[in-house]
Amino acid sequence: TDGAAGSKRTSRVRVAVRLRPYLDQQDEKGEGPCVRGLGPQKLEIINWRNATETLQYQFDAFHGEQTTQQEVFLTSVKPILPHILNGQNASVFAYGPTGAGKTHTMLGSQEQPGIIPRAVKEVFKLVDVQEKEQDGWEYSVGMSYLEIYNEKVLDLLSPGSQDLPIREDKDRNILIPGLTRTPLLSFTDFDTHFIPASLNRTTASTKLNQRSSRSHAILLIKVVKSQRGPPHRQQTGKLYLVDLAGSEDNRRTGNQGIRLKESGAINLSLFTLSKVVDALNAGAGGRVPYRDSKLTRLLQDSLGGSAHSVMITNIAPEYRYYFDTFSALNFAAKSK
Ligand code: ADP
Ligand code: MG
Repeated sequence: TDGAAGSKRTSRVRVAVRLRPYLDQQDEKGEGPCVRGLGPQKLEIINWRNATETLQYQFDAFHGEQTTQQEVFLTSVKPILPHILNGQNASVFAYGPTGAGKTHTMLGSQEQPGIIPRAVKEVFKLVDVQEKEQDGWEYSVGMSYLEIYNEKVLDLLSPGSQDLPIREDKDRNILIPGLTRTPLLSFTDFDTHFIPASLNRTTASTKLNQRSSRSHAILLIKVVKSQRGPPHRQQTGKLYLVDLAGSEDNRRTGNQGIRLKESGAINLSLFTLSKVVDALNAGAGGRVPYRDSKLTRLLQDSLGGSAHSVMITNIAPEYRYYFDTFSALNFAAKSK
């Protein structure tokens, strides 16, 4: 199997779905929501032509429209963070169509901070607790921030940088030579580096959304744990926090030319991601096609194997999202 360094265990990817509130702005027909929650794990979508026809789905977790940022963090992300301080890897990604709440979930706002600021804060809290125990280990935290755009790996902490290579070392760790790694001493330190770098993200407008994200934005938080005394052992834990590009079908976004080429690259990596998650969760130990896209290649040591992974599928309740919601739920259901 493609298990990570030294481990035969192949862990499942936890699959959660989050429904954002009904925003109504472009829903001229006033049809109401086409998604309904049916409990903490279940939901249904209502057929756009015949409201008596519904399709039900079940996931590891369903977060309804009332769910707070804190609840999403507590149920889906906080439990995996202690592993990062123990040399294990983890990945959290937000999947779904543009406008369904991926960036809200991952980044959030000043008033409603999302997974990224909460997770980084928590990592520093855990490091503080460990250091107070004086158990002979010390910790250092660093960040990298990159995007995959058109199957190119770009360093968001070094604007204008070229496509970076992805390599694997003899222990099957994935490395990106040349990628900026910024040491962080505190959460405030993180904020200082992260906010301006976010603005470097490649965004463009499509018919569906003014600032549609055409790239996968990948934040990497690395925690290195070092023994103070001999034999000075070291362990590295990586946490990937990923805001994926929109999953919408480009035939409906009116994309042409360069936009259509981007869509092709986006679809390739999202399609490969679904095959990878599918293969991992089928659990048969079959081939996992990590190498088929940059995104999955990059995440290889932090997705499956001994890593802890969570996929949050964001969906929107308005009828104009019906087909995108349907396909996002099928993607997620397949991955479950
Ligand atoms: P995406 O990143 O998937 O394109 P956004 O995160 O930008 O979507 O969300 C689209 C809009 O919906 C934004 O205005 C955002 O503030 C709002 N939104 C998304 N999720 C929620 C939520 N859970 N509660 C309130 N507003 C939300
Ligand atoms: Mg977004």
